[in-house]
Amino acid sequence: MYIDCHAHIFFSPIPKEAIDKDIKGEIPTPTIDFINRMISNAKKKGVSHIVGVISNPDEFPRYKEQLKLENIINIIGISRNKSLEDQAYMISLLRKEIERKIPHGIGEIGLEYPYDFDKLKEHEEKEIKKRQQELFRKQIQIAKEIAIPIVVHAGYGTDKDIVKMLKQEKADDVGGQIHGYMSNKELVSELLDLGFYFSFGYFHPREEELRTIIEITPIEKILIETDSPYHLIESPKRFILPEDVVPITKEIAKLKEVNPKTFANQVMKNSKELFNFN
Ligand SMILES: [Zn+2]
Repeated sequence: MYIDCHAHIFFSPIPKEAIDKDIKGEIPTPTIDFINRMISNAKKKGVSHIVGVISNPDEFPRYKEQLKLENIINIIGISRNKSLEDQAYMISLLRKEIERKIPHGIGEIGLEYPYDFDKLKEHEEKEIKKRQQELFRKQIQIAKEIAIPIVVHAGYGTDKDIVKMLKQEKADDVGGQIHGYMSNKELVSELLDLGFYFSFGYFHPREEELRTIIEITPIEKILIETDSPYHLIESPKRFILPEDVVPITKEIAKLKEVNPKTFANQVMKNSKELFNFN
């Protein structure tokens, strides 16, 4: 059995400008019909569990819908994309949902500095970093209060700050998942030493630098994810779905030179250890 360790089941609608003309297949829409079909198609391919991440406060009302679904690992938090909005208000919304039911983890939280930083004025750059870090810090503290792991988005070039903040906040008390890690390999061992798991997706086996990260991560610390539906599969070009975790898991098993079944079982075991489910 397979697990998709990071997917957005109740996702925000895909913006029109992200839908290229040459995309094949159905465009994901967050209707209950599409979502049920997406989950049952994944099940048919052997994906028994999905880690469902709700990280946009606009989607928080759907947390209670997600709680009704079977074999879903519930993650809720506030994305760094929202860091310039009213943080106190968003945190209060988050706390209300946590009171409804304690999730398996807080996420995805973390940092993603804009690529066009050089076009921003210095004070704007400083402000964005400061606000993202504030939001990240507050949510690490919430996770520690209730003793659940964190799901960390570590965007390109943010790795040093991520490691620094995880250490300052003693986030190793709760541990977590490093998701979508696209930075260099130098800090991987530090994150592993803090007890964090690395979650690899469609892009990791396809880029040399990222392949090295797979190579140096022990299989006991690997999770596999799709980040559905926010990525595109290359050919035929279409939006990624939780069922795509099956070929990704097999690809990474091959890179690690492990029997694919043994590897899939290991990923399930790792997920259960981290997110504390049966
Ligand atoms: Zn995500």
